[in-house]
Amino acid sequence: MEGVLTGGCLCGAVRYELKPGFRMRPYACHCTDCQRRTGSAFSLHMGIMAKDLTIEGELNEGTFVQPSGAISTIAGCAKCMSRIYAANDRRAGLASIRVGTLDDAKNMSPAAHFWVSSKQPWITIPEDIPTLETQPQSSQEWLQYVGPE
Ligand SMILES: [Zn+2]
Ligand SMILES: [Zn+2]
Repeated sequence: MEGVLTGGCLCGAVRYELKPGFRMRPYACHCTDCQRRTGSAFSLHMGIMAKDLTIEGELNEGTFVQPSGAISTIAGCAKCMSRIYAANDRRAGLASIRVGTLDDAKNMSPAAHFWVSSKQPWITIPEDIPTLETQPQSSQEWLQYVGPE
């Protein structure tokens, strides 16, 4: 997870570089919004500073108003629609990269699993990995679960 990380979309039209900087550890989110947005069982996120991310290629954005009223924006490749990162208007300066778009994600196992209350029943989480029924409720709690090592 150290150093410059690179990644991109499925078709290659979008490429990005993530400079070293403040990086949270990856986590899995099993909320129903992530399930629907990804069409999968959970999504794998890593919190970063948006300013550390340099993207080349045309992006499309989709927005969604969360129950809290926060506007979540997700950006992906305009051609192949691979989703690259998301941002939230309540967390200025931060973004959440979609870990599966990294060129090398094999060491990006989730440091925590959130929203296990809506986890699909066929997924078994290793016993030594922290879980929450919902998600961290404060910045301090976010750092406690998935803050930088
Ligand atoms: Zn693409
Ligand atoms: Zn989620």
